[in-house]
Amino acid sequence: MPNPPTGGPSLPQERRLLTAIPGPRSRDLQSRKTAAVPQGIGTIMPVYAAAAGGGVVVDVDGNSLIDFGSGIAVTTVGNSAPALVTAVQDQLAAFTHTCFMVTPYDGYIRVAEALNRITPGDHAKRTALFNSGAEAVENAVKIARAYTGKQAVVAFDHAYHGRTNLTMAMTAKNQPYKSGFGPFAGEVYRAPMSYPFRDQGTDRGTDGPAAARRAIEVIEKQVGSENLAAVVIEPIQGEGGFVVPAPGFLPALAAWCRDHDVVFVADEVQTGFARTGDLFACEHEGVVPDLIVTAKGIAGGLPLSAVTGRAEIMDAPHVGGLGGTYGGNPLACAAALAVIELIETDGLVARARAIGDLMTEHLRKTQAGDDRIGDVRGRGAMLAVELVVPGTTAPDADLTRRVAAAAHAQGLIVLTCGTFGNVLRFLPPLSIPDHLLVEGLDLLDTVLEESR
Ligand code: PMP
Repeated sequence: MPNPPTGGPSLPQERRLLTAIPGPRSRDLQSRKTAAVPQGIGTIMPVYAAAAGGGVVVDVDGNSLIDFGSGIAVTTVGNSAPALVTAVQDQLAAFTHTCFMVTPYDGYIRVAEALNRITPGDHAKRTALFNSGAEAVENAVKIARAYTGKQAVVAFDHAYHGRTNLTMAMTAKNQPYKSGFGPFAGEVYRAPMSYPFRDQGTDRGTDGPAAARRAIEVIEKQVGSENLAAVVIEPIQGEGGFVVPAPGFLPALAAWCRDHDVVFVADEVQTGFARTGDLFACEHEGVVPDLIVTAKGIAGGLPLSAVTGRAEIMDAPHVGGLGGTYGGNPLACAAALAVIELIETDGLVARARAIGDLMTEHLRKTQAGDDRIGDVRGRGAMLAVELVVPGTTAPDADLTRRVAAAAHAQGLIVLTCGTFGNVLRFLPPLSIPDHLLVEGLDLLDTVLEESR
């Protein structure tokens, strides 16, 4: 058996299967995992990583897998990108932690300045740093409540915002995220999302403002803007199924919020940092959110998240009202600065668009010959196919599971999502070479064919 590689981005950019997937070393680790880690922490693909870079993850058995997942949209600039490794190593040698709330450091300020500069809108902004996406969403709600003096929060059907108590309340899907974990935080209300594939046959299928009017009516009747602190929305929904709202939906919602003193919060945890072929997904429709929440792709895998927004809103909470021991950890800040620079110097926004073009063309061709593919959608390197019973919009979660499992067995890391469990989603690192994209897509065609 080969020794696990020592890794990094110099890894051969190839799919290589030396054992069954998972191999013996992974299976051994998986049985230790079962004994040591609670089952609540699930594993989508029990293949244990030894190294990763470019467009591959190499496992402990020496298999090299094509990565269409980026660790759930995190390693956008590629795993262990050399510039990021150097930046983090330099910071590691200088100091690991002082706590920004005790004796601060400039890395935090530089990340805040960079986010204030690159997020949508040229108004005065502030940025606060945290650790996880969920923690940042929670803080965006705290900030909106402090600013407006109001309490209610609106989230949407199919939304995912995290697994903490407040964000579980904001997340739509019961299984596996919420079931048995209540009671949930109060003053969270749900509005209907624009979901063009499932709104077919109504004017809302293509008419975003019509879908927004439906949502706004629910909000006005069931909540009331006089009680509403914030509307929180993913500009393209992630876990809920890569749902791209109909054009005009987001601008209409944002305009209503502006007119009613409601803070419009974009949760760009999954869509941010060049993933969708713009730095942020809001930009596709020129939407300028009051607050934007980022995480995942922000720091190449080091834990970091942020709330960035209008200075007057961000400054509403009192001194000491926000924070946390690790928020804006210096190592994560060094990584984030390297990520932001790499996006700019390596032209990763354009790369995401090119990946989107290549993959969309292929997936649409596949769809033309396969009536189980109801929809191909997404933007940039955030794409998905929704699998249905042919000729209907009835979700086929069983087929989706089988296709994903068969792809895994062939060495392709692919994730599923969606309220109905019938969406295959593709989130390759932007460092993936084209030949691996094509090989992964061809493989997907094969396993789709074999899953008939
Ligand atoms: N919001 C969105 C849109 C997400 O996709 C996620 C993670 N999947 C979160 C929030 C929560 O982020 P984290 O897992 O870092 O808490």
